[in-house]
Amino acid sequence: MDKNASLQTRRGKAVPRGVATAYPIFADRAENAELWDVEGRRFVDFAGGIAVLNTGHRHPKVMAAVAAQTERFTHTCFQVVAYEPYVALAERLNALAPGAQAKKTIFLTTGAEAVENAVKIARVATGRRGVIAFAGGFHGRTLLTMGLTGKVVPYKTAMGPFPTEIYHAPYPIALHGVSVEDSLAAINTIFKADIEPEQVAAIIIEPVTGEGGFYQAPFEFLVELRKLCDRHGILLIADEIQTGFARTGRMFAIEHSGVVPDMITVAKSVAGGFPLSGVIGKAEVMDAVAPGGLGGTYGGNPVACAAGLAVLDVIEEEGLLQRSRDIGKRLTDRLQGLAGRMTARCIGEVRGLGAMVAVEIVSPADGRTPDPDLTKALTAKCLENGLIVLSCGIYGNVVRILVPLTAADAVIDEGLDILEGSLIAVAQRPAA
Ligand code: PMP
Repeated sequence: MDKNASLQTRRGKAVPRGVATAYPIFADRAENAELWDVEGRRFVDFAGGIAVLNTGHRHPKVMAAVAAQTERFTHTCFQVVAYEPYVALAERLNALAPGAQAKKTIFLTTGAEAVENAVKIARVATGRRGVIAFAGGFHGRTLLTMGLTGKVVPYKTAMGPFPTEIYHAPYPIALHGVSVEDSLAAINTIFKADIEPEQVAAIIIEPVTGEGGFYQAPFEFLVELRKLCDRHGILLIADEIQTGFARTGRMFAIEHSGVVPDMITVAKSVAGGFPLSGVIGKAEVMDAVAPGGLGGTYGGNPVACAAGLAVLDVIEEEGLLQRSRDIGKRLTDRLQGLAGRMTARCIGEVRGLGAMVAVEIVSPADGRTPDPDLTKALTAKCLENGLIVLSCGIYGNVVRILVPLTAADAVIDEGLDILEGSLIAVAQRPAA
């Protein structure tokens, strides 16, 4: 039995099936946008560990910062003995986050934990209980964040009862028939049918949905949400866990809209592969919770904070905001060209904000209906051909590209070649 297969067998016996893995390969090592499995096979990595590696696998600067920190200390617990990397990273994120007001940042470990904390803070700061999230949104797998996540299968199935006082409005996706007006009307319906706006603590939204399918909230929608929040004293939380850290061509995706949220949740690419998350928010909001009400043993681990500081340096020094926009254009030009050439009408849409690019796969039969089976066949074929790429979406029919922003053009093109060849193989040959 080969190494991947034998590890797969061991994994099947030792690890519960609930934690699913996209592909039956096991990692041996990785550099920037390439990964080698335990059998020595090389893959181009368009997944980046789900949006964690905007600065690539093992960026030398990140690795050096981590090594230096591990030489000094690896853990004290910030609540026992504090340390500078935490404070320094908070200072830098406070300065980077949109809005002129003073800001403060708390660090946690996972994305879900950041979202949980944002909700806790919002409840204390407003003295209110309700939270509005969006259908198709993803905010995590812990009990509260699972409640906020707007997708039942596979995240919520049989896991109720869910936390109360969470309400879902549809995310505006014109492609699937939900307009900005529809979404706003649904929020008004929540105010009429479920909870008065004076009892809503926060509205949480991903400026571009991640797991939900890379749909971008129209800027006018975000502007309207801000107005609505201001009108009713509700806090606006931007969940930038997947959209953050230069992925969309800005440090935070919400910056594109000009809207200033009250809090931003961050994780994933903030620390280039080390477990770190955080909530950045207006100082008076962040200070609402009394001492002892926030924290966690590992929150803001010094090694992860050192990595985070190096990530910010790399983004700045390597011009990754511009690089994100360039990569986005490279990806969308190529994929739109392919869509035009395919005789099988299986590309419903190519969309992107910066390098947060997705391809909507639809049934060639009508060029419209979401086709999750074809999407699955495509990502499996990509793996066979040497590309790791993930699907997502409320209909499971979106291929999302999260290639490191540090990837060389040649590697990106290689990945695109594989994506194109694989799509042609599973769908139909393009016209000559
Ligand atoms: N929010 C968003 C937007 C995410 O994409 C994710 C993870 N995919 C989370 C929250 C949860 O993060 P974690 O898995 O680190 O808990």
